[in-house]
Amino acid sequence: MREAKQDIAEFELNELETELAALGVQPFHARQLYRWVHNRGLEHFEGMTDLSQSLRVQLNQTFKFSTPQISARRISNDGTEKFLFTLADGKTIESVFIPDTPAMTFCISTQAGCAMRCRFCLTGQMGLTRHLTAGEIAGQVRVLVRELGLQNRRFNLVLMGMGEPLHNYDATMKSLRMIAAPEGLAITPRRVTLSTVGILPGLKRLASERWVPNLAVSLHATTDKVRHALIPTSRNQRLADLIDACREFPIKHRERITFEYVLLAGVNDTTADANRLATLLQDLRAKVNLIPLNEASGIPFSRPSNQQVNRFAQLVASSGLVVSVRKSRGRDIRAACGQLIIKDDCSTQPLNN
Ligand code: SAH
Repeated sequence: MREAKQDIAEFELNELETELAALGVQPFHARQLYRWVHNRGLEHFEGMTDLSQSLRVQLNQTFKFSTPQISARRISNDGTEKFLFTLADGKTIESVFIPDTPAMTFCISTQAGCAMRCRFCLTGQMGLTRHLTAGEIAGQVRVLVRELGLQNRRFNLVLMGMGEPLHNYDATMKSLRMIAAPEGLAITPRRVTLSTVGILPGLKRLASERWVPNLAVSLHATTDKVRHALIPTSRNQRLADLIDACREFPIKHRERITFEYVLLAGVNDTTADANRLATLLQDLRAKVNLIPLNEASGIPFSRPSNQQVNRFAQLVASSGLVVSVRKSRGRDIRAACGQLIIKDDCSTQPLNN
């Protein structure tokens, strides 16, 4: 049977007002409703005690909750915690909580799996299962805030979990507006970083948004040849065009674009690479975030030695660029960059149907 009820968490505040008006309900109740769902993470209408009993019943007859449910959590010995979420259709995704980078950070997914097929990334090897909806993307934050008791705490959000945010553009942007709403979690764009493989039309669109998060671009190479080999879906675009799009990207006062660069021994970590990287980024407000490969079986590359990583970092820094080396977090529980993977997707049972 077709499910006619819509998920209440898929609506932005103004959409909720329209929905309520269509039901003959005063639109100002939308704010109360939005606060219960998006700020307090409630998953039933009964508990919305500032709404009348009859309105709660009416809402329950009209809408449902399809909030992602935590089906497993694992804590790393470095304090990083990985959450397995089961979606309403039984598909699964992962999110990560990093308590101290130095601020608290949530790393969330925008897709179940990923279609980008980056050759060093385990999520890429799974392929795309499906896009997440805006409610599911925002839902990871809602649930984690509730479960970890962080309602009034400051934290950062990075879209660096499973998926390519610009490949699921509309849902991603909608989820960010939902999270930013003052009646919701009020997380401003300044505290959100969107990491992308750099899909050009998506980047251009993002540049024209009113609500622009911090940008991190997964560069990973200094020549088209190497980049095309590492990121097969980038084959239709040139590095020069990606850099141009970044040059045109609106950057807030004193902010910079982060360029992520996964270091793969013997592939992109040579002196020539370091010099080319410096040249590519020289006239941009850029910072470089080097990510020594998180190795895993099935990934046909190896991590350079710490000495090699430092040498590369110093070469790039000597050009005047700001350089950091990303500390790998939660590797023991496979929560580190590129290690989010669900091996057993099909056999997972739905929890909340
Ligand atoms: N689709 C987005 C988010 C990916 S995850 C993007 O491509 O930016 C965030 C970062 O982790 C990306 O820069 C990604 O390339 C990197 N990454 C993926 N696999 C990795 C691995 N095995 N080791 C280190 N970093 C990895």
